[in-house]
Amino acid sequence: MGYIELDVLNNDAPRVVVGIDLGTTNSLAALWQDGRPQVLAPEGLPATVPSVVHVPEEGNPLVGHAAKGRALIDPTHTVFSAKRLMGRGLADLDLDQAPVPYRVTESERKLAQVELRGKQWTPQELSAWILTGVMEHAKAATGAEVASAVITVPAYFDDAQRQATRDAARLAGIEVLRIVNEPTAASLAYGLEQKGEGTVAVYDLGGGTFDVSLLSIEDGVFQVLATNGDTRLGGDDFDQALVGLAVDGLRERVPAALLEDPAFLQAARLAAERCKIALSRDPEADLHLTLPDHDLDWRRAVTREEFEALIGPLIERTLQSCRRALLDADLEVGDVDEVVLVGGSTRVPAVRAAVERLFGRKPHTELNPDHVVAMGAAVQAHVLTGGTRDVLLMDVTPLSLGIETIGGAVAKMIERNSTIPCSHKEGFTTYADGQTGIVFNVVQGERELAEDCRSLGRFELKGLPPLPAGMARVGVRFALDADGMLTVTAKEESTGQSASIEIQPMHGLTDDEVEGMLEAGFEHAREDFDRRRVVELHTELGTMLLAIGKNLESARGALDPETIAELEEAVAAAEAARSQQELPTVQGARDRLEQASLPLAAVLMDGVVKQAVEGKRLDEV
Ligand code: AMP
Repeated sequence: MGYIELDVLNNDAPRVVVGIDLGTTNSLAALWQDGRPQVLAPEGLPATVPSVVHVPEEGNPLVGHAAKGRALIDPTHTVFSAKRLMGRGLADLDLDQAPVPYRVTESERKLAQVELRGKQWTPQELSAWILTGVMEHAKAATGAEVASAVITVPAYFDDAQRQATRDAARLAGIEVLRIVNEPTAASLAYGLEQKGEGTVAVYDLGGGTFDVSLLSIEDGVFQVLATNGDTRLGGDDFDQALVGLAVDGLRERVPAALLEDPAFLQAARLAAERCKIALSRDPEADLHLTLPDHDLDWRRAVTREEFEALIGPLIERTLQSCRRALLDADLEVGDVDEVVLVGGSTRVPAVRAAVERLFGRKPHTELNPDHVVAMGAAVQAHVLTGGTRDVLLMDVTPLSLGIETIGGAVAKMIERNSTIPCSHKEGFTTYADGQTGIVFNVVQGERELAEDCRSLGRFELKGLPPLPAGMARVGVRFALDADGMLTVTAKEESTGQSASIEIQPMHGLTDDEVEGMLEAGFEHAREDFDRRRVVELHTELGTMLLAIGKNLESARGALDPETIAELEEAVAAAEAARSQQELPTVQGARDRLEQASLPLAAVLMDGVVKQAVEGKRLDEV
């Protein structure tokens, strides 16, 4: 993909390490200068670069303001919100619910891409263009090249989405120092880690996404306790509410087809956004829509109260997410010491008031809510390149990670909400005699059985020494790095034979899906417990039956006929129970088998003891 030409590259220019907020609506860079993080804006221009790419008929794509200007004239070749597509499949995107004027298709790998002028564009390529625009902006501001960067992503981004962000940076020629969660960056921008101790809530309402994160600060160490949010909720929805007003007002006056025309929808969106922004300042504003091509010039006054009534339910949804995050972190509202507002939509007075009411304290609004994330990323970039602010960054993984074990149960290796980076190692063994390979299925989710979780990938450890069942020792290590990339390694201890996988799932997860998976775990907890127990009992029955089968004949002579009869009946019942699913039946069969096999075990134990002492004097034993 070599056609992203960085014709601005000039090797003599000084090189800087910046923080970049690659946002859904806007992107920007910040740099640590004069002892503090500062956003990079060329003289007379805003720091933000709209995250919009326009592909003209000829020549290189336009990025930022230039591209945004084309949204109205040529909506089908102008991509906004490319971030939503990163690392996602078409099925994840919900395009029926939230249609876009450009054409989204699916690649062979079932990942979303955009068709523009007969060519398929991956979201990574589109984001790379946005990053290129940000770098040019940064260079115009500083005269320096961006060498490497800390780039932020939403806390709920999964591995695929984080990897897609790295790929976008690579395409743009940026070395990624670290991928950092946006709420973490925002807290850094406010220097909250310097407070020593406390709990921070970061409420981030941008153009298209909402998330809330709860962070703890202890001894200057910074941790994300829980995150929650909604990938489909933001200022765009506020705009959409006003577009609804426009559509209602125009229904009688214009042909129905116009109301669905992409150019009309874009114009209405922009008019709605202007009106919304004005309402953050004034108690009343005009919703003013002009479409010269259709001889349309329409306006309607909207009061702040009217607007607040429209967006009230949307704001309430964000508060619900906050409550859920608190619940997850096992915190009360009163435990939160600081509240930080991030994202342009937190300028809406009703949003600020709602957040203040919920947390019972005034949120931090001292820094520009559009700049805080980039500023925090710059702080982190400064720290990573040897700067002095001593901060340890930690985040959490939103869903548990584990592997499928025999019978389809899940062995959880990393629990959800574990602080990353983290790793966990556990020993596993083979189930069958002479087994020389193991296939590992890496799963994600809160359910007890692998079939109910999301499979992230499989890999095989081959070349195991053929040993009796249960004798092989295989260490499995899950390592989740600071960027949320998962490496699973399996190693047979005696031979050192190993295999590993780095997880980069084909499909991303929507926030709703994450939530769905959490809720499913909760909802099915009882039933899952039973099903898991049945699976474990089936496995146990298998092992017990194998052992009894191996040893019964040789020990038969030492057992009385009644014992043998009872054992054989118990074996038959156990064989039958291996295909039964009701917990009491299976549990009963297992208990009965254990009971009935005790005399056999005693005989075998005797044998073992005899073998051990054979040829030895009593005092040698
Ligand atoms: P972000 O994704 O953080 O850049 O946020 C962009 C969102 O903030 C867009 O939906 C903007 O319309 C919205 N926004 C920016 N300024 C204001 C404002 N003064 N009042 C209300 N919304 C705003």
